[in-house]
Amino acid sequence: MNQDVNGGSCDICLATLNLTEQMSAHALHQCLTEIMRNYFHAIHVSFYHVHHLVKKNSPEGAWHLYADEAQYHDVQHLLASESLKNCLSYQNLSEEVQGNQIRYYVPIPLVKAGLGVLVFDISKALNAYQHDKLDKLTHLFRNCDAHLTAFHHDVLTGLANRMALNEAMKHQLLKHQRKYRRRGEVEDFAAICMLDIDFFKRVNDNFGHLYGDEVLLLFSRLMRECFRDEDQLFRYGGEEFIVILHCFNDEDTFKVLNRFREKVEAYDFPQVGKVTVSVGFARFRAAVLPSEVLEYADKALYFVKDHGRNQVASYQALSEAGHLVQKSSDHQAEIF
Ligand code: GH3
Ligand code: MG
Ligand code: MG
Repeated sequence: MNQDVNGGSCDICLATLNLTEQMSAHALHQCLTEIMRNYFHAIHVSFYHVHHLVKKNSPEGAWHLYADEAQYHDVQHLLASESLKNCLSYQNLSEEVQGNQIRYYVPIPLVKAGLGVLVFDISKALNAYQHDKLDKLTHLFRNCDAHLTAFHHDVLTGLANRMALNEAMKHQLLKHQRKYRRRGEVEDFAAICMLDIDFFKRVNDNFGHLYGDEVLLLFSRLMRECFRDEDQLFRYGGEEFIVILHCFNDEDTFKVLNRFREKVEAYDFPQVGKVTVSVGFARFRAAVLPSEVLEYADKALYFVKDHGRNQVASYQALSEAGHLVQKSSDHQAEIF
């Protein structure tokens, strides 16, 4: 019979099996913290992503921790801990006494998302058997993270794919709906931007598929260079890309997207030369479904395609100006 980590008869194998069933990084982190609570009887458990900021005047730099769920520890307090510094610097499991509890820091390298750290408080120090179980659990967690990452990323560009976009949009929406339910207000919280390379078929036709692939790869690099870390980048399919941009008004969104559009226009793609991009965006609100926002961004994009390409358009601005009309016969919005 399998034993739980405390020598009882609970089946930890069934719990760890749950890890392999999670379809998003967020759900995977939650599942790990749940296992720690249920099977290790950990009291406070949090999973953090680690950012290492290199500072000019400090050779050590500074660590920053962020969690995408409720946090049970005071981050500033954690950051002051020598044990945490040791854990992050040497990627070693570290521990420290916290009142009548022991706090553990478990480093977990992630495939794409840098370093993660599992922090938990427990009433008694782990014994050798529990250490071994924790080791195996984090190993399984890393394997799941690797598989999930491969499943959610595009092979050519390395950007997140359409599958990941669905998860990200659902996650964003739920997060903001919770927030707005509490505050009772509705606000824009992101812009969904659809980017489509202009006349890309001609690149393939004139230079061949390999050069076409090279353009896609270089285009994705320009995206990484131009957008900020917190903006989420996706390859939607073919020569279409999505950016979830955390800008709160149209003016800023236009500025950021036009800067990127100009960067593409100015870039000299080897052999191929000049390439341009058309962009349509729509604001994301807690009351609107992800599929609807994508459809709105798509409408704005196709307005640009019909009006000379190599421009940026906002769905809301086009609607307000009366440029997008509803066709009464089929209730489909049509662009003219
Ligand atoms: P528009 O300005 O209207 O967007 O025209 P377009 O030529 O960019 O659009 P169209 O939809 O006619 O053609 C898209 C092309 O993208 C056709 C397809 O073969 C090519 N494509 C899609 N995925 C890939 C890929 O992974 N690699 C390469 N090289 N080409 C791809
Ligand atoms: Mg297209
Ligand atoms: Mg295109």
